[in-house]
Order: sequence, then C-alpha cells, then structure tokens
Amino acid sequence: MTHAKTTYQFEDLLDKHQLKKTAPRLRVLSMMYSKNTATSQPDLESVMHDIDRVTLYRILNVFEEKGIIHKVFDLNGTANYAICHSNCGAHKHHDEHVHFNCTNCKNVYCLNELTLPALNLPGGFKAEGFTLYASGLCSKCSKKAN
Ligand SMILES: [Zn+2]
Ligand SMILES: [Zn+2]
Ligand SMILES: [Zn+2]
Repeated sequence: MTHAKTTYQFEDLLDKHQLKKTAPRLRVLSMMYSKNTATSQPDLESVMHDIDRVTLYRILNVFEEKGIIHKVFDLNGTANYAICHSNCGAHKHHDEHVHFNCTNCKNVYCLNELTLPALNLPGGFKAEGFTLYASGLCSKCSKKAN
C-alpha cells in the first residue's frame, strides 16, 4: 500500500505547516512530488479540471509562503513551481541551486546537487538569495539528439 503511505506523508507535511488537509492541496502535493521537473499553474489546470483557477492559485501561493515550494521561471517567463528540498521555512527560502531550462522539452529542472558559489559582493551589498539559470538540453533530450 505505497499509495496510502504517501498520502499520509503529505498529510503530515500539511500538518507540519499548520495547513488544513484539503483534498485539492493533497492532490497538488502528490502531483508535484511525482514529477522531477517544475510545474506551472497551466500544467496543474490541465490535469485537475475540477479544481478552479483561484483555488489553485491560492494553494500555490500558500505553499510558497510556507516554504514547501519555490518559484522558478521558464524560458518564456512563465512561473513554475518546484518542491523545496532545502530547509525552507515560512518566508525563508534557501533554494540556491542551479535551475536548468531545457530548450527542447521546455521543462525546468532543479539541480539540487549543484550549489551556487559564494558571491563576492561589493561592500554594503547583502544578498538574501540569488538564482542561477542554465539553459540547453536536458539529459533526456540530449540522449534523443544523439
Ligand atoms: Zn524553498
Ligand atoms: Zn528536455
Ligand atoms: Zn529549484
């Protein structure tokens, strides 16, 4: 019963962030965890016809606020959301990893294992976070191209 176990884990996650365990929230979580790429709101809308736009928008917003997901932009400037693997918390994200935009399949990947180098900022500048985007072919698409 692996399915029951994951649902339980998602309920746990919502509990941890003091969020009510609603069915739409659980479904959004399970869909986002099942993918290895970031998900945009239109992606979610296309598979969850019964959840309206406003509800989805609110879910994504509250998840981002709580440090469950973070925003990444794709090559078209569309906001995508990815699960946080770092120790993110409410209003404190630590997603300093490389984001990879595939120019072929348009997927956005979090390269969690690549941490960003420390920035040598000019005196007086204090960074609270920064993002590095890379673009090109993802591993799936580069395999196909060969
Ligand atoms: Zn985060
Ligand atoms: Zn690709
Ligand atoms: Zn990321």
